[in-house]
Amino acid sequence: MIAGWPDHPLTRLSGYYRTVVNNRVAKNKLQLLRSEKLDRLAWLVHAFSTRIGGVSRAYGGNTLNLGFTRQDSRAAVERNRELFLKELGVANGRKSWPLVALRQIHSDLIHRVDGMRVDRIPEQPLAGDGMVTDTSGLLLAVQAADCLPIIVADRKRRAVGVFHAGWRGTVKRIVEKGVGEMRKHFGSDPRDLVAAIGPGVQGCCYEVGEEVRTGFEAQFAYAGSLFREVKESDPVREKYPLLFLTARAPGHSEWPVKLFLDLVEANRRQLLDAGVLARNIDAMAPCTACHTELLFSFRAEKGITGRMMAAAGIRK
Ligand SMILES: [Zn+2]
Repeated sequence: MIAGWPDHPLTRLSGYYRTVVNNRVAKNKLQLLRSEKLDRLAWLVHAFSTRIGGVSRAYGGNTLNLGFTRQDSRAAVERNRELFLKELGVANGRKSWPLVALRQIHSDLIHRVDGMRVDRIPEQPLAGDGMVTDTSGLLLAVQAADCLPIIVADRKRRAVGVFHAGWRGTVKRIVEKGVGEMRKHFGSDPRDLVAAIGPGVQGCCYEVGEEVRTGFEAQFAYAGSLFREVKESDPVREKYPLLFLTARAPGHSEWPVKLFLDLVEANRRQLLDAGVLARNIDAMAPCTACHTELLFSFRAEKGITGRMMAAAGIRK
């Protein structure tokens, strides 16, 4: 599956996302995605995992499933997490940074993780969908397999936040609130923030129901610009949506329409509204549903899939 990886089209996908490609692709070797904008912060450790590498056998070949899913064994996931920490350079022999994850509930709940809490990380993960910290030596992580993982770093105050944004969390403005939490706790100036929206299901593939549009319309004046309608009986339009941008107004179609949501743009807008500068937002990660050879996609794999992690931490 990973034969010829260095020539994979994704490595040419965008200048923004740098794939950490090994010179020689060894079997089971992890492949992590990193944002070039975040990579410029020498004090920051960060990565978006892919499915490549690892020891899970539940999802075809060896994969790097980092979530405790029903199909996979706990031992495999724990081993994968060890490999992930090692690849990030935050594990040395048996000593490693604590990996702080959440019990994600599609909320706007954001936790501040500080040094004190690190000393007694609870057995049961906290419920919520975001974490922020300015404590060094620990790794904050969110899990996803279509929902968007988002990392925000304050290059002046050396603080970081990780967020999990599906459509529900996005309607609740998780990332906009996340920036607010960083202002509150660390005195962050939004102009100093650098954000990366990681791999998730994108506008090309994210079909949603009318209730999702209703939810966004109730919250955002720009909601209309986040949705795209496609006539069900017209495969050409689905394949080449850009050619049909001037489609007729909603409700004027004689065929049933499919509705697609651009969740990346929705979260980019929230970052902009919170004061983050456009040039400091990296939103060029690949679509999970389009690239199941590289990424886990809950939708494209009909729910039988692993979980990836977006992780970030501060060097000591
Ligand atoms: Zn797609």
